Amino acid sequence: MTKYKSKLSLPFKIFIALILGVLFGIAMTGDSQIAVTYIKPFGDGFLALIKMVVIPLVFCSLLVGVGSLNNIKQLGRFGIKTIIFFMFTTSIAVMLGLVLSNLLNVSSGFSMNTNIINKSDVIMKKAPTIAETIINIIPSNPIKSLVDGNMLQIITFAIILGIALLESGEKGREVFGIFETIANAMYKIISWIMKLAPIGVFALIVPAIATNGAVVIGSLLKLILVAYFVSIAHIILVYGLSVKLIGKINPLRFFKTVIPAMLTAFSTSSSSGTLPVSMNVAEKLGVSKTVTSFVLPLGSTINMDGTAIYQGVCAIFIAKVFGVDLTVGQQLVIILSATLASIGTAGVPGAGMIMLAMVLQSVGLPVEGIALVAGIDRPLDMMRTVVNVTGDITCSVIVANTENKINHKN
Ligand code: ASP
Repeated sequence: MTKYKSKLSLPFKIFIALILGVLFGIAMTGDSQIAVTYIKPFGDGFLALIKMVVIPLVFCSLLVGVGSLNNIKQLGRFGIKTIIFFMFTTSIAVMLGLVLSNLLNVSSGFSMNTNIINKSDVIMKKAPTIAETIINIIPSNPIKSLVDGNMLQIITFAIILGIALLESGEKGREVFGIFETIANAMYKIISWIMKLAPIGVFALIVPAIATNGAVVIGSLLKLILVAYFVSIAHIILVYGLSVKLIGKINPLRFFKTVIPAMLTAFSTSSSSGTLPVSMNVAEKLGVSKTVTSFVLPLGSTINMDGTAIYQGVCAIFIAKVFGVDLTVGQQLVIILSATLASIGTAGVPGAGMIMLAMVLQSVGLPVEGIALVAGIDRPLDMMRTVVNVTGDITCSVIVANTENKINHKN
């Protein structure tokens, strides 16, 4: 069989697809309709295939994850470590966003054009309040949560059911066994879907670049560059150091292994959509299934460092454009609100932009400012999703190493 196997590795093929996608996308900026009509459907199909496995995967693997713990205490320890890491890195992310966009003067070169503020540009979906976000975690009808794909509610239900089964002795173990088989079948399906990733990535990137290209080259380029710069700095400094110092993994090996997840995140703009790939690469790093099945679904739903960076950078940008000088106190409020907003952000395309409203409101900045950045949301979203996903995998490595649940020989 091996002689039919392609010599190129999958990550490399996905990478080539991405580069080709960018080049084709740029070439098609004048004719973006063609890209949307003929190329995008392949990308949408790939996305639909990934989405197909997400809900059963999250539910089954989380349930099995809880089942594989020795006791509830261990679950508590996992949970606390995970949440602390998420909150800590997210607040560093906003801080980096605020400091660097101040230093790099993110709004220079942008002249305020009031015509550009068109409220209809923004999907004026109301951002939920903090209380609503918390209550929303409770699934009043778990079947509906599964049908709607409400990730946070699915997670809550899976954990509660898992604990109850854990307490149910032998009979509970039998149920875990069934869900484990379903979860394994999902992994198998994912490995099939990933073979299509190069085509999917190409077909998603071409229309994204073709339709956004012209806007990107406009006066908002500096904002994109600053957001990308802060994101890359966060990935290298915070994640690179964390995996080296706490995860005891060589950062180069780490980044090399997670590339497929990063590229999938970049092209799908969805942490939830990337989840199957994240689980796959985390296991390649030697992280045990017990950890990946707990940390990654949770991370893809509540851990959004890239979104927090975006919110910090955009808050400074909008403040400067509207001539508002943010005090240190206001910037601290932004750190808190962006950290909370990123928890409430769903891992789907464009969600972070809606939550930006909450951050702007927290310091009295005009919500209309979102219209300024709405046109370039896609390229911003692509990068923030890469950060979000890389952060989740980093956390899984760290929890695994501190819990002796990593195989360093992998
Ligand atoms: N698209 C991002 C994600 O899925 C969320 C966001 O819009 O910030 O991670």
